[in-house]
Amino acid sequence: MIDPRSNLYDLTRSELQERFVQWDLSPVHAGRLWNYLYLELADSFAAMPDLPAKVRTRLEAGTRIGTLPTALATESSDGFTRKFLLTLSDAERIETVLMRFTGRVTACISSQVGCAMGCVFCATGQMGYTRHLTPGEIVAQAVHVARILKLSALNPQLSTADGPKPDRLRNVVLMGMGEPLHNYDSVMQAVDILRDSSGLAIAGERITVSTVGVVPGILRLAAERRPSHLAVSLHAATQAERAALIPVARKWPLDELLAACRSYSEQTGRKIFYEWTLIEGKNDTPEHARAVGELLRGLPAQVNLIPLNPTAGYAGAPTRSEAAKRFQQILASEFSLPSTVRQRRGIDIAAGCGQLATVG
Ligand code: SF4
Repeated sequence: MIDPRSNLYDLTRSELQERFVQWDLSPVHAGRLWNYLYLELADSFAAMPDLPAKVRTRLEAGTRIGTLPTALATESSDGFTRKFLLTLSDAERIETVLMRFTGRVTACISSQVGCAMGCVFCATGQMGYTRHLTPGEIVAQAVHVARILKLSALNPQLSTADGPKPDRLRNVVLMGMGEPLHNYDSVMQAVDILRDSSGLAIAGERITVSTVGVVPGILRLAAERRPSHLAVSLHAATQAERAALIPVARKWPLDELLAACRSYSEQTGRKIFYEWTLIEGKNDTPEHARAVGELLRGLPAQVNLIPLNPTAGYAGAPTRSEAAKRFQQILASEFSLPSTVRQRRGIDIAAGCGQLATVG
């Protein structure tokens, strides 16, 4: 059963202030509470000594700090990736990943328990869909990673990866479990909370929302001029090949998806990151590279190539690095299309793209 006390991480700063007014409490204390939640990263009311006893009693009676307990934490052998299995208040579980790159840390956070989109190569898709996450459950994952970083900075021995140890979370990708645009309202509320300049203060351009191609969500993002980046999972350049990998592509066919992407870029002036999982022999030949080049011709785009990560439910193999390089060269030389090959991180702890799952 979900805890009936309201989760403070669900609220924007102004909503928190409104609640304080409704409770007949001074909004000044709402500001202090906000600082405790997002600057001090406090996880209990007891750790908020500046709040008067009357305020703490009121908060304890009807609200909670929706910290997500860690059921399991694993670290990759190179020390660059940590994966957390986190428990929600109804005992459902999700995974969140902390990835260290040189000079920066990225939190990869989930938007749903499971996923309804059913991409054949994805462990989350293989689990099926259970429920949407609330805004607070999405925010709590970023807070969890921010706390780990704070702790690592205070005690460098907790961190084993080489290189500088950033002590603040500055990058968030909504690429964990779930399809973010299937849970649009909660995800956008969470993004607003993450961006608040007097809280976690994660800049809009350092937040990436991914989608497998939920066309109404893309159009809404454009109409609302949302400040985050958009990543669209493409994986194939024909409708038939795409629908074989992403069942939901039958609902939003490739031509509709590209029209929505074009409209998004026109309205926002932003390029889109197109994700392409490279599967050996399936979508990684020079012909495939030329097909994606043609498809994206004239669109502000960057292609992110992601060699397939293994999952129990899909037999495909990752593209070898020479073939990935050849794919990249064709995009660059024949189409002037920028691309990157995703650094493979956390594969040994199943924390890579498409590997997150809480069963099996
Ligand atoms: S790749 Fe993303 S959208 Fe597809 S099943 Fe996995 S989590 Fe869902």
